[in-house]
Amino acid sequence: MVDTDMTKIQLTPMLDIDEITEILANVPDPEVPVLTLNDLGIIRDISVDKQAGSITVTLTPTYIGCPATSAIRKMVSDALLDAGYPKPILKEQLVPAWSTDWITPEGIVKLEDYGIAPPGSDDDNEPKRCPHCGSDSYQVVSHFGSTACKSLYKCLECKEPFEYFKCH
Ligand SMILES: [Zn+2]
Repeated sequence: MVDTDMTKIQLTPMLDIDEITEILANVPDPEVPVLTLNDLGIIRDISVDKQAGSITVTLTPTYIGCPATSAIRKMVSDALLDAGYPKPILKEQLVPAWSTDWITPEGIVKLEDYGIAPPGSDDDNEPKRCPHCGSDSYQVVSHFGSTACKSLYKCLECKEPFEYFKCH
């Protein structure tokens, strides 16, 4: 886009932390687009350096080596650039490691609506129930679903296949 309006070009973006938080919170997860980064609970810190005009965003990747991590970084960068924030700096915080416990209750509901079983407890790492009919009678089909972060299951009650977001 060519912008010939000089007043716009000369505008220094306001580093509004609330607006930045809002922008980041609404970035979708590249693998499960119904979930936002906020639902996943992976945004650890947002800080602004008013003098340098830069924003530093600290994220915890959902899964070490997960291909989605680089996609998430790019989406966060792009979202900030699109909103006119010129210097996004992305950092990763690996400790403590993300766990499915960090997914917000709202995120769990969205996952289930999307047909992905909500995470069970950390101990067994098994789905709580079939997202389609709620049955807890299922069998594993493959430990690797459409991505390395998901396993594929089949419900023994409604016979529907479903994915489980394991990610740890
Ligand atoms: Zn079912």
